[in-house]
Amino acid sequence: MKITFLGTGTSTGIPTIGVERASCSSKDKRDNRLRSSILVEYKNKNIVIDCGPDFRQQMLRTGVTKVDAILFTHEHADHTAGLDDVRPISFKHGKIPIFAHERVIKNLSKRFDYLFDVKNDYPGSPHVFPNIIENKKFVLEGIEILPVTYMHHKLQVYGFRIKNFAYVTDLKKISKNELDKLKNLDLLILNALRHREHYSHINLEQALELINELKPKKTFLTHIAPDMGLHSETEKLLPSTVRLGFDGLEIIIND
Ligand SMILES: [Zn+2]
Repeated sequence: MKITFLGTGTSTGIPTIGVERASCSSKDKRDNRLRSSILVEYKNKNIVIDCGPDFRQQMLRTGVTKVDAILFTHEHADHTAGLDDVRPISFKHGKIPIFAHERVIKNLSKRFDYLFDVKNDYPGSPHVFPNIIENKKFVLEGIEILPVTYMHHKLQVYGFRIKNFAYVTDLKKISKNELDKLKNLDLLILNALRHREHYSHINLEQALELINELKPKKTFLTHIAPDMGLHSETEKLLPSTVRLGFDGLEIIIND
């Protein structure tokens, strides 16, 4: 299984318009963060988790031209606003299956109604094929996926576990039962916004507490805000099994 970090930034990306922080003017490429998303390549399938406003740029950067499915964690714009940019992929490969909570599918079908309208034969319009996810294991093109549910302030969000890898973003609170689904991981990707407390995201300290409880072999942090500081400086604060993710980073996990 190959994981590519398409983006590792918070909702505004880094640099952020009008924000003056060291990370925003840094010459280190790792401090440049598009909106959070990953590509999972497994069993000859390409699965994208979240499709934010930088999707087009992210896919061009990877060179990957086919997407077999898109999973959505939740409906916030930084995770969904790029959905229209599936057009060239849909023209070439047909309808793109999308997987999300029923609430998210409804939200997307209002915001991108033309993508869901099968009777709409406007030649420039791509199509998606919606699949509702419940909080139980499902199989996508022969790949077993286990959703993990948790709260992002008052909004329910899904993380996803595939084999011994899990992607968890926009987490603030999680129940003990759901946390148990994240045990025995080889790789965890987890959100950590910044050093200070935030109402809807765990901060670095809270992320490290969770990691200490779960003890995955390796963790990469994502959904990072400008306030986190420079990549090179923040990494010095982390235990050896925890690193900051950065855009373009690729990780291979043995099956
Ligand atoms: Zn977000």
